[in-house]
Amino acid sequence: MNIHIIRDEHCPLVVYQNVFEKLSKSIGVINFIKSLDDTLISNESDDMSTEKERILTEKHVFLSFSQLYEICENYRKKYNIDKKDHIFLLSGANNYQNWFSNMDHDANNYFVQVTEWDLFFGAEIEISFLLCYHVMSWLLKRKMFTSEDEVMAAVHTKSKGCMMDFCQDKRDITLKIRTADVCPTCLNIIKSRDIPFNFLNQVFSLWEEIRKNIVFRERAEFLNKMGRIIVHPNKKTLFFPDYGDIIVRLQPKEMAIYQLFVKEVNGIFLSCLIDHARTLKENYFKITGKDDNAALNNIYDIRDNVASQLISRINRKLVKNLGETLASFYIIERLINEPHKIFINREYVNCLS
Ligand SMILES: [Zn+2]
Repeated sequence: MNIHIIRDEHCPLVVYQNVFEKLSKSIGVINFIKSLDDTLISNESDDMSTEKERILTEKHVFLSFSQLYEICENYRKKYNIDKKDHIFLLSGANNYQNWFSNMDHDANNYFVQVTEWDLFFGAEIEISFLLCYHVMSWLLKRKMFTSEDEVMAAVHTKSKGCMMDFCQDKRDITLKIRTADVCPTCLNIIKSRDIPFNFLNQVFSLWEEIRKNIVFRERAEFLNKMGRIIVHPNKKTLFFPDYGDIIVRLQPKEMAIYQLFVKEVNGIFLSCLIDHARTLKENYFKITGKDDNAALNNIYDIRDNVASQLISRINRKLVKNLGETLASFYIIERLINEPHKIFINREYVNCLS
């Protein structure tokens, strides 16, 4: 069973990458295939393309269901994809019906909206988990029902923590995802449909991961629990295995700076950054393979404020992915009259080379 995961221009690349990474880790009959449109995009998007993406993803766009499915259909034609293959669009657009996701009952096309989840889950949630939940639930619904009428007849208008909850009140969606389950009635439908066991197993295993991650994160936050961080300069990622495999992606310059602050346990005054020019250049060279002195020169110039902008960007990414409480261990912070530093106990840090 081939599932192509694609995105529109309003879905941030980083959201797409996080969703695809989680889905592709699940093992079984469902085979997730990366968008061919995105294979050309390198990870090293520069500042200008980041800015271009920000403008596109912040734009409020409304599309109809059929327009969303048309994007899938165009992709199918463009790459000559088999009718039997499924195409999932991660879309940054809103739709007129105000649904978070849906499937085309006449073809194997689907969409999941990637925006506005924070209205229901707060900024503390890593939305890729929620999006993965929806991908799996529509694939299961496809196996359970043969028409839109059948789907609509089976939905629960009153929420009970089942995949088939209609969630008229969108806030109920939190219950559905925290349980990531199906009720006995729906389980009976599944039994009657003769759905392959290995397919079900993959859906339920991924759901279980999602559920665990969401609950675990909430508890870690509540307990203010410090977790490990793995700094991976080559991949330009910060990885948090104890918070449900959260990945924070950095640009090369951001990674070079972050590595420097990880190493300098006592912190650095930005006015003295020039003293660390060599280490910074070495870090940058290892990440990019470019011996590009000019790319880094303005970082040391305190009047240009470049270093503090880079630090703000790193910190914003950490807060966005981990929530403010947990991020406080890992951000590059400055107390009055103190240098900038990362407060995490270095026993929790593993910096790969
Ligand atoms: Zn149910």
